[in-house]
Formats: sequence, C-alpha cells, structure tokens
Amino acid sequence: MSVLPESKRFVIVGAGMHGLSTAWHLAMELERRGQGSGKDIVVLDKTGPGAGATGIACGCVRNLYMTKELHPILRHSVDVWQSDPIRFGFQQVGYISAGEANQQADYELMVESHNACGYRSDLYVGQEAKSFLKSIWPDFNTDRIEVAHFEHPSGYAGTRQAVAGLAEKCAQHGVEILAGIEVTGYDLAGRTIRKLHTNLGDISAEAVVLSVGAWMGKHWDLLGLSEELECRYPDGGSVTKDMWTYWRLLEGEMYIDRPYRTADDRDPPVLHVELMNTPVINETTGEEMSDHLYVYWKNAAERMESIGLQGGTIPIKIGNAATLDPYGHANDEYQADSWFADYFVSAMGYLMPRFKGHRSKFKDRRNGGIGAFTPDNVPIFDWVLDNAYMVADSNHGFKMIGAGKLVAKVLAGENRVAELEPFAFTRFAGGKTFGSSNSHCPWV
Ligand SMILES: Cc1cc2nc3c(=O)[nH]c(=O)nc-3n(C[C@H](O)[C@H](O)[C@H](O)COP(=O)(O)OP(=O)(O)OC[C@H]3O[C@@H](n4cnc5c(N)ncnc54)[C@H](O)[C@@H]3O)c2cc1C
Repeated sequence: MSVLPESKRFVIVGAGMHGLSTAWHLAMELERRGQGSGKDIVVLDKTGPGAGATGIACGCVRNLYMTKELHPILRHSVDVWQSDPIRFGFQQVGYISAGEANQQADYELMVESHNACGYRSDLYVGQEAKSFLKSIWPDFNTDRIEVAHFEHPSGYAGTRQAVAGLAEKCAQHGVEILAGIEVTGYDLAGRTIRKLHTNLGDISAEAVVLSVGAWMGKHWDLLGLSEELECRYPDGGSVTKDMWTYWRLLEGEMYIDRPYRTADDRDPPVLHVELMNTPVINETTGEEMSDHLYVYWKNAAERMESIGLQGGTIPIKIGNAATLDPYGHANDEYQADSWFADYFVSAMGYLMPRFKGHRSKFKDRRNGGIGAFTPDNVPIFDWVLDNAYMVADSNHGFKMIGAGKLVAKVLAGENRVAELEPFAFTRFAGGKTFGSSNSHCPWV
C-alpha cells in the first residue's frame, strides 16, 4: 500500500511517458545543479506506470511532422532513446514515409528542417522514390508514389520496455513512484495549487506537473479552467475552439508466415504511406472503403507471441467529451471498428502483394485507446498556473521521450528553453496558434 507524503517539492501527476521522463530528468537536473535530488520528487498514478496511452502505444518514433517546431523535440528525444536503447527497447531502424506528388513541397520543407536541426533525413522524388522503396521492399507497389523520405534516426520502441526502463531510472535516482493514488481535486489560492486532494489524503507541493494524458480535460475542469479557448492565428483570424477534443485510435496486428525483412535481411524501417488521391479497395468484397489511403506498420515486437506486424490508420474524432475509464483495451466503447481489419490488410496488400489474402491472419483481440487533443493538435508544454506545469502532447508523444528532459530544465529554474517556447499556452492568445496541414491525419 502506497503511503502519501504530506508534501514534496515536486509532485508529478501521471506515470506515463511524460511524467516518468520528466521525473527522471528532473532528478538528474537537480543533482547536476546541486539543487536537490530525486528524493524531492514524487510521481502519483491512479493505477500505475504505463496505465494510460504509454502502455498501449504502437511505439513508432518518427519526425514526420510538417510542424517544424517539433523537429528539435524529436532530435532530443532520439538522443534519449539512444542513451539506453536496450533498456527502452528502442530499435533504430529508421522511418520511411511515402506519398503522392501533392505532398512533395511539404516533404521538401520538412527534410530541410530535419537536417537543419541535425536529424538526418533524405528525400527521394519521382523515379528515385520508387527505386528507393523497391530497394528495400522489392514487391512495393509504387505506381502512385511520387515522393519518399527516410529518417535515419527514427524507429520504434517497446512500450512495456520503455515504461519499465523509465521507472527503473526514476528509482535509481531516488524518485518515488506511488501507484494507486488518484488526484481527485486541487486546493487553489488564486493561480497557485496549495494542495492536491487524493484518495489517500492531501499533499502540498512547490510545483505540480500535470502529465495525465487523456485525462487532461478532467484535470482542466478540476482546476476550474475554461472549456473553450479563443485561438488567434498568424493571419489575424480567430476561432473559439473546445480546449480538449477526444479522438480514438485505430490500430491492430496481423500474423505473417515468413519474417518481415528488408531485401538485405534487416528489420525494415517503420513504413508510413499516405496516398491522398488513391482509394482503398476491400480485397475481399471489391468495394471502395475510402477514397484515400493512410497506413503505417512495423514489426510487432512485444505485441505478439509469434511473428507479425503492427500498425494503424487515421484516428477518429469523438468530440469534446469521452468515457475515460476504463481506459484503452478495457473500454468497450472505443474498440477498433470491425472495418479496420479489412482496411488495414487491404491497404497493406495493395502496397505489398506479399500481404494479399491476409485477412484471416488479422489478430482478433481488443484494441483501442483514446487521446485528448489540444485545439491545434500540437503539444502544449507550459505553466498553466503559477506552480502547475502542463505536459500535454496532444496524443502523439510516446516518441517524445525527450520532452521531459527539456521540461526538467524549466522546472529546475532555467529561464529560457528555446525548444519549448513554440509550445507555450500563450500561443493561442498571441496569434501563434498552429494552422492546418496537408493531410487527412491530425498529427502532421
Ligand atoms: C493506441 C495508441 C497508439 C499510439 N501510438 C503511438 C505511437 O506509435 N507513437 C507515438 O509517439 N505516440 C503514440 N500514441 C500516443 C502516445 O501513446 C501518448 O501521446 C503518450 O503515451 C502520452 O503519454 P502521457 O504521459 O502524456 O500520458 P499517459 O501515458 O496516458 O499517462 C497518464 C497517466 O496519468 C494517470 N492519471 C490519470 N488521471 C490521474 C489522476 N487523477 N491521478 C493520478 N494519476 C492519474 C493515468 O493512470 C496514466 O498512467 C498512441 C496512443 C494510443 C492511444
């Protein structure tokens, strides 16, 4: 049974990717500066480490973002993944994305920005793109593909391994992680949290980190913050939006008979294909399932008991309210739809004929998970009260293990952490809301 201390200098709420990474890095930051240690930090989780999205993520680590401000966050993140790839289960296989000609200009800008921040990434256009893909997967159907890009530092990680690795590093630095402690409310004095109410009593803190993933909207309410937000854009426009919007993810796994390897017998890069003008045809019925194709996959690593692939497609918007508990695979409302299996295997079979006829090999199991998205679908890393820092990744941040490293600097008192500035909460009021992008997916 966890025992709740009466107070701690830093209370971190939520033991997912961000809570754990922030705690570990903050402990190191305090030690390095001679300002304290991990003993000044407690992480509270209502269930336990990895009980939220972090424990069920696909584990893809990529820098495929048209929002160039995210690129340095991923640069730091890969440094952290690579600091202990074995403990975090990080496979640096690279990440390849491919698209049609309408995405070429976006890819050019993205690749330029990647390389400018030290994230090695190559661009292939036209015939070169087709040849590049076929050099890795000889049966790749490149008919519709006009652009491809290869991120060398990216890859994928095992979610259970990452959680265990982070929890271990927290423990090594003296950070206490308390499971089964639910924060139920906040005692506020103006814009300061005086105490956190929990199921085991109250705890006070100098600083609180809110890293509660999909539950962020609930805590936003508990803090009495506004459900809507006026978002001002660089062009002078302004739109009032829900502060939090829930989306549910569509992911799954498929068994395979032969190992999935590259032409030169390696674990392939994660593959991500968005063909905005190419339909997905159900390979069993011949019916059009969608007028565009969006799919990603990789070796399934820790998800399967025999060889297989894991991947997904574009998430589905739920709205400004969702059933948060039970979470993930345990939630009946948000299981991946039955059509997803048809879509996933049909899209894969279209792209690589080796996967044709694999519908019966789709792994039939519970598979769901929701996330809370910010008004512009881009993370918010900022103080939202005088002593409450929010790490809200807009549900695409398993890969962002390095965000906690940067947040730790802020918590330790550093005046400016330039990489985090674009993600300030004040961007919405200040006319720096991020805009829309050339994709059917909210995460670019
Ligand atoms: C199915 C799925 C697949 C995904 N795939 C990828 C991917 O391939 N790559 C990628 O980069 N991202 C992916 N994501 C997104 C990524 O998993 C999340 O963005 C990230 O894990 C969020 O981490 P977090 O620490 O913010 O939150 P979480 O991991 O959700 O952790 C929040 C924690 O807060 C705790 N908590 C909540 N309320 C309270 C309370 N009142 N008191 C105490 N504790 C509380 C919860 O128990 C939970 O453990 C995926 C998400 C889903 C759902």
